[in-house]
Amino acid sequence: MTKVVKFGGSSLADAEQFKKAASIIKAEESRRYVVPSAPGKRSSGDTKVTDMLYQTYDLAERGGSFTKALADIKARYDEIIQGLGLDLSLDDEFRIIEDRFANKAGRDYAASRGEYLNGCIMAAYLGYEFVDAAEVIRFDEDGMFDPQATAKLMRKRLSKLDHAVIPGFYGAYADGTVKTFSRGGSDITGSIVAGAIKADVYENWTDVSGFMVADPRIIDHPESIETITYRELRELAYMGASVLHEEAIFPVRKEGIPINIRNTNDPEASGTWIVESTCQKSKYVITGIAGKKGFCSVNIEKELMNSEIGFGRKVLQAFEDYGLSFEHVPSGIDTLTVFVHQDEFMDKEQQVVSAIHRLADPDTIDIEADIALIAVVGRGMKSTRGTAGRIFSALAHANVNVKMIDQGSSELNIIIGVANQDFETAIKAIYDIFVTAAI
Ligand code: ASP
Repeated sequence: MTKVVKFGGSSLADAEQFKKAASIIKAEESRRYVVPSAPGKRSSGDTKVTDMLYQTYDLAERGGSFTKALADIKARYDEIIQGLGLDLSLDDEFRIIEDRFANKAGRDYAASRGEYLNGCIMAAYLGYEFVDAAEVIRFDEDGMFDPQATAKLMRKRLSKLDHAVIPGFYGAYADGTVKTFSRGGSDITGSIVAGAIKADVYENWTDVSGFMVADPRIIDHPESIETITYRELRELAYMGASVLHEEAIFPVRKEGIPINIRNTNDPEASGTWIVESTCQKSKYVITGIAGKKGFCSVNIEKELMNSEIGFGRKVLQAFEDYGLSFEHVPSGIDTLTVFVHQDEFMDKEQQVVSAIHRLADPDTIDIEADIALIAVVGRGMKSTRGTAGRIFSALAHANVNVKMIDQGSSELNIIIGVANQDFETAIKAIYDIFVTAAI
């Protein structure tokens, strides 16, 4: 059994957190490959090392003095080293970093040092070999992650090692120039390592015990999700869940490797399992509820729209021409509605409206703002009658007006549009009818 274990920034924010991570790693022989993030926040007012690195590099790029800012970063690491009682000095590493910052080595290089240095400490503390991600994670000339080249390099390097630490968040082009993933990208590294070596499990250790059925900022102590499929998670992540980086799913999903989200501060909790498919029934009919405020609906009407071939394409062309992606497109016989993100759409709305007129010649266009979309997701919905009925009667009882309904043909989710101000009430009503009422 081989597990790849990734620890997030808050799990490695200081020496105490490092100790917890190390005892988790050592508790199971199968936890062989470790992917650390950079030190995160130690308390709510604190700054992540990655942010400190970006700020310091910006100073360096503007030609300002960055000595003090870099010393503050070094102090974060030195405190960890001391707290762990390690005989390790990062003086040489910081001399190189200072030099490279002065020579404008790039923002990606700068940010990557957060994980690189934390990896050096982790490797020394565990007594494992350090494998620089720049050696084993490859990007192509277009800046796209190169899965084939990476798998080859990774397998070759790790096949000789029983244990290793591979820092998260970055890789390199063939010429060695460092490139990072998007923010939170250590999750992706963990998934890539697990996929490349065909691990049995990818454990992702963070500061929550997995996914909750609903957002804890809206529902007080929501139930947690024991098992969720990749597809369900996509439907939820897409609406704003934030425990795992969206792109971390693909490398392991391709290999059928499950992800186990765990809590460094509560290692006994079994967390959430993310799997390809399961015969395990979810505890409730729904697996999760997620949503987001701030959408606009663009309602387009045209008589006999239903018989006009290509109408939908022409309308969507207008959105494409202005670089807008759409969320949902429910339609009626003579109407078609396009849901877009309000903040992206606002500045371009009049141009898009005239483009729709020009391209599709509709009778009227009507825009409505401040709409929230809620996704109710669950593999259990397919085999349970009355789910939609229960959702809408709960919303009616809570006095929530439903503006839009969209059920995907997968029967995995129902998307509901409500006014922004009804968002929280709607989520509570749905949670109560499926979860509270079932406990
Ligand atoms: N340290 C990086 C960030 O703050 C990547 C990560 O933590 O996953 O975004």
